[in-house]
Amino acid sequence: MPVSVALLTSDLRLHDNPVLRAAVRDADEVVPLFVRDSGIRRAGFDAPNRRAFLADCLHDLDAGLRRRGGRLVVRSGDAVAAARAVVVETGARELHVAAGVSGYALRREERLRTALASVGCALHVHDAVVTALPPGRVVPAGRDHFAVFTPYFRRWEATGVRGVLPAPRAVRVPEGVRGEPLPQRKEVAGVSPGLATGGESVARRLLSAWVNGPMDAYESRHDDLSADATSHLSPYLHFGCLSAAEAVHRARRRGGPGAEAFVRQLAWRDFHHQVLAARPDAAHDDYRPRGDRWRADEDGTAAWRAGRTGYPLVDAGMRQLAHEGWMHNRARLLTASFLAKTLYVDWRIGAAHFLDLLVDGDLANNQLNWQWVAGTGTDTRPNRVLNPVVQGKRFDPRGDYVRRWVPELAGLTGGTVHEPWKPAARDAAPKYPEPIVDLGEARTRFERARDLHRGPVGTGAERRTRTRDRGRSGKVRA
Ligand code: FAD
Repeated sequence: MPVSVALLTSDLRLHDNPVLRAAVRDADEVVPLFVRDSGIRRAGFDAPNRRAFLADCLHDLDAGLRRRGGRLVVRSGDAVAAARAVVVETGARELHVAAGVSGYALRREERLRTALASVGCALHVHDAVVTALPPGRVVPAGRDHFAVFTPYFRRWEATGVRGVLPAPRAVRVPEGVRGEPLPQRKEVAGVSPGLATGGESVARRLLSAWVNGPMDAYESRHDDLSADATSHLSPYLHFGCLSAAEAVHRARRRGGPGAEAFVRQLAWRDFHHQVLAARPDAAHDDYRPRGDRWRADEDGTAAWRAGRTGYPLVDAGMRQLAHEGWMHNRARLLTASFLAKTLYVDWRIGAAHFLDLLVDGDLANNQLNWQWVAGTGTDTRPNRVLNPVVQGKRFDPRGDYVRRWVPELAGLTGGTVHEPWKPAARDAAPKYPEPIVDLGEARTRFERARDLHRGPVGTGAERRTRTRDRGRSGKVRA
C-alpha cells in the first residue's frame, strides 16, 4: 500500500495546501509530519511569541486531521534526519514539501534531496504554497528578480494566481507511526500578554469576516493608526494557516478599491519573497550598500526598544510590539525609520529586535522591509526620513493610538499628545521622558553621513572644512 509523507513547514493548513493535497492524491496512506526543527531553534528563530502561536497552529491542524480520520505526527530534531527516519519506518516512496525562499530552506531542500535519494524516496517540492505567485514566476528580461516593486506589481497583476484547492476529505495515517505530544502554548515563557491565537480555524474566520466587511474601507483607512483597520492576517500567512493564493481570490471575488489595495499588499509580500529567493544574503547584508557607517548608540537603542524615546508615536508602536507581538504597518515604518535614520543605528539591530517579538516575524518581510526603510533596500527614495511628529499629526490626528499605548500621556487631549514637550502640555505628562534626540540635528547628521547635505549648517569652521573637503573630493565628507 503506497505511503507518502507531507512534510509541513510554512503551510500549516488543510485548505488550499498543494503539499497535503498531492500527498493524499498519490498514496493510500499519508504521514502529515511537522518537525520541531533544531536548526531553527539553534538559529534563535523560535522566539517565544512565534513558538506559542505555533503551538496553537499545530493543535488546530491536528484537530482538523483527526476530523478526517488522521492526525498530525510531530517529531523533534534535525528536519532532514527526522523526515528520513519517517520515510524509512513507513516505507514511503514520496515526500512532498513546500518550496522555501530563505537560504536555510534552500539548503534543507538540497539535504532532503540527497537523504531521500539514498533510501529510494522521491522528493516533490511544490511552488506557490507560501506565496501567491512563486518567486521566479515573473522576472524582468535578463535578470532573476525584480528590484523595484511597481514594475513587479504590473507583471504580478497580469499573471494568473493558481486555483484554490479543497481540503482533503479523508486522511489515512499508517498505523503505529510514532509521534511526540503536541507542544503546549502554556509551556512557553516570555509570551506577549496580548498575543493572538494561532491556527487555521481562527485564520479562516478572520479572513471571511475581513473580506465581507472591513476590507471595503481598507484603501482609505489602512494608515489610520487608531482605527486599526488592517486585516491582522500576517501571522496566519506567515505560518501558512492561510494560503496567500486563496486570500487573493477571495478578495478579488468581493472586488472594489479596498480589495485592490489589499491584494497589492499581498503582492508586496510576494515581492519581498522573490528578492530573498534570488538574494538570500539580503537577510543580513545590505541589498544596495550605501557606505553607511552606522552609529553605536546603546542608550538610544535601549530607549527605542523600551518605548521611551520621548517621541510619542515611536513609543506607542514599540509598546504595541511588546504587548501584542504585532505592530501596525505605519508604526513599523516610523519606528524603523527612527532607529535606522534618526538615530542612524544599523538596521540589523532593529530587525533582530523585531524578530525577537513579532509573531509574524519573517525573514523575507522583516529584513527587506527594514532594508527598504533604512534605504539599503529596494526603496526608490532611499534618503527619506520620517518625522514622528508629522507622522503623528497625519496618521493619528486625534492622538487615540498614542493614548492607547502610552498611558503617561492619557491626560493630554487630541493631537497635543504628539508634542508633550510643549509648555502647554508638559504639566499634564510629568512622567513621560524628554526626547532623546533633536530631530533637526539628527536629520543633518544622517544627510551628512549619506553625503546629501548641501546647506549652510554648522559653525564657520565646519563650513570651511566642508568646503575644503568638497574641493578635494567633490563631495561633503560626513
Ligand atoms: P494588511 O495591511 O492587512 O496587509 C495584508 C497582508 O499583506 C499582510 O498580512 C502581509 O502578509 C502583507 N503585507 C502588508 N504589507 C506588507 C509589506 N510592507 N511587506 C510585505 N508584506 C506586506 N510583515 C510580515 O508579515 N512579517 C514581518 O516580519 C514584517 N516586518 C516588517 C518590518 C518593518 C520594518 C516594516 C516596515 C514592515 C514589516 N512587515 C512585516 C510588513 C507589514 O508591516 C505587515 O505585514 C503588516 O503590518 C501586517 O498587518 P496586517 O496583516 O493587518 O496587514
